[in-house]
Amino acid sequence: MSELLNAIHAIVGDKGLITDERVAQRPNESWSKGSCPAKAVIRPASTEEVSKVLALCHEANQTIIPQAGMTGLADATKATEGDFVLSLERMRSIEQLDTQGATVLVQAGVVVEDLQNAAAEHDLLFAVDWGARGSAQVAGMLAANAGGNKVIRYGMARDQVLGLEVVLADGTVLTNLKETLKDNTGYDLKQLFVGSEGTLGIITRAVLRLWPSAPARQTALVGVESFDNALLLLNTLKQKLEGKLSAFEAMWNSFYSFMVNETGNHQKFIDDSLPYYILVESECVDDTRGKEQFIEVLGELLEQEVIVDAVIAESQQQSAALWAVRDDIEAMVQAFSPLIPYDISLPLRHMEAYTNEVKEALSEQFPESTCLTFGHLGDGNIHFCVGPVSDKKAIDTVVYKILEKYKGSVSAEHGIGLSKKPYIHLSRSDAELAVMRSIKAALDPKGILNPGKIIG
Ligand SMILES: Cc1cc2nc3c(=O)[nH]c(=O)nc-3n(C[C@H](O)[C@H](O)[C@H](O)COP(=O)(O)OP(=O)(O)OC[C@H]3O[C@@H](n4cnc5c(N)ncnc54)[C@H](O)[C@@H]3O)c2cc1C
Repeated sequence: MSELLNAIHAIVGDKGLITDERVAQRPNESWSKGSCPAKAVIRPASTEEVSKVLALCHEANQTIIPQAGMTGLADATKATEGDFVLSLERMRSIEQLDTQGATVLVQAGVVVEDLQNAAAEHDLLFAVDWGARGSAQVAGMLAANAGGNKVIRYGMARDQVLGLEVVLADGTVLTNLKETLKDNTGYDLKQLFVGSEGTLGIITRAVLRLWPSAPARQTALVGVESFDNALLLLNTLKQKLEGKLSAFEAMWNSFYSFMVNETGNHQKFIDDSLPYYILVESECVDDTRGKEQFIEVLGELLEQEVIVDAVIAESQQQSAALWAVRDDIEAMVQAFSPLIPYDISLPLRHMEAYTNEVKEALSEQFPESTCLTFGHLGDGNIHFCVGPVSDKKAIDTVVYKILEKYKGSVSAEHGIGLSKKPYIHLSRSDAELAVMRSIKAALDPKGILNPGKIIG
């Protein structure tokens, strides 16, 4: 082992350092892809250890790739041969859960689903939720500013953060583990690190906001005949469910038909001839009252022909089966690969025109391609997958050129990493990119943290 690794070993011990064949057995990308080529995986057990390790690496100009649950979708965790990987997988403690203040102090290696379960035991809710909850960790969720299925009601990961502890590239520990929503004492430094994809500092602990639990859940899959009606449905539910709308997930016919016909995993709850399908969910405390209101509002919308078909889940099992049509991305990826995934956001008023233009341009220039469109429509965020991949760059150009016209974002929630790096300038001005570079240079002057990602 090198002198540097020996020194790191002295800090983190046997459990904290892997340098043998187990490094290559770890993935280097999401979906368990690749083999990690790094020189070592460092697994500190405390903030103090992280700080000492970073100070040594800084001194030695040693690059570090932070990895958490490895479920990120922006190629932001890829290591190369000279790198050290840093993982907080041994920092999995929920240190304090304050039921009166509805906050939780966690180490950043905690798995998101464990946090959700711990909150639920106290009738509280940790509100960021998405398909990878069982593997993703708080560190990755925050560094990627994950969104997910409940943003429409509770906001993104960023909105849950009250306090943060971060170790800077040179080992400085920046601790701001405040537990209050309000703190206007100068610049909000913690928010710099949320969404920074491991390029500005190592997130070690966080104080997160919890919400009153709303365990009574009503789920429905509805079909609409036009995009205008999908938007009317959204705005009506926002108003008439009186703040209880917790998910509004759209599936274009292309995606719905694929999921129910091609994956072999999912039931066709509604005939596959409609242009749009929406999964709506309302969460509240009183099941009976919630259900009555949900059925009444959807009934009115059916009468007014805003929606033309609806399946309301009668049990948790049925609700899970409806969700699975939207959430079973793994089955879609398996059946549709190789594909190019997109994660864009744009104003709702432009969404229909944008998706139609992309579809037309793709079928004109790549007649063999199919575009499966779905996403968090309530947040102005859609994902679509294009396959088969003939010329990724040319397909990217089509998708992003039209997006530029509508002033959309090339990454709504997955981040930039390496995968969207060539296109960040389409969503950020030169002046903004220059400020980002200044911040990076100020916090990580030697560029040792996740080099090459986002802007590096
Ligand atoms: C099936 C599936 C569904 C998904 N659905 C959604 C969705 O609906 N909405 C959404 O927003 N995202 C979604 N994602 C992607 C989502 O961004 C990631 O799941 C999650 O945010 C990453 O968490 P992770 O622990 O796996 O982090 P990783 O993927 O390991 O890392 C993510 C980033 O965090 C950095 N990082 C890791 N540890 C640290 C640390 N300690 N300090 C600083 N930086 C660190 C990494 O370098 C990387 O840049 C989905 C992913 C999958 C696989």
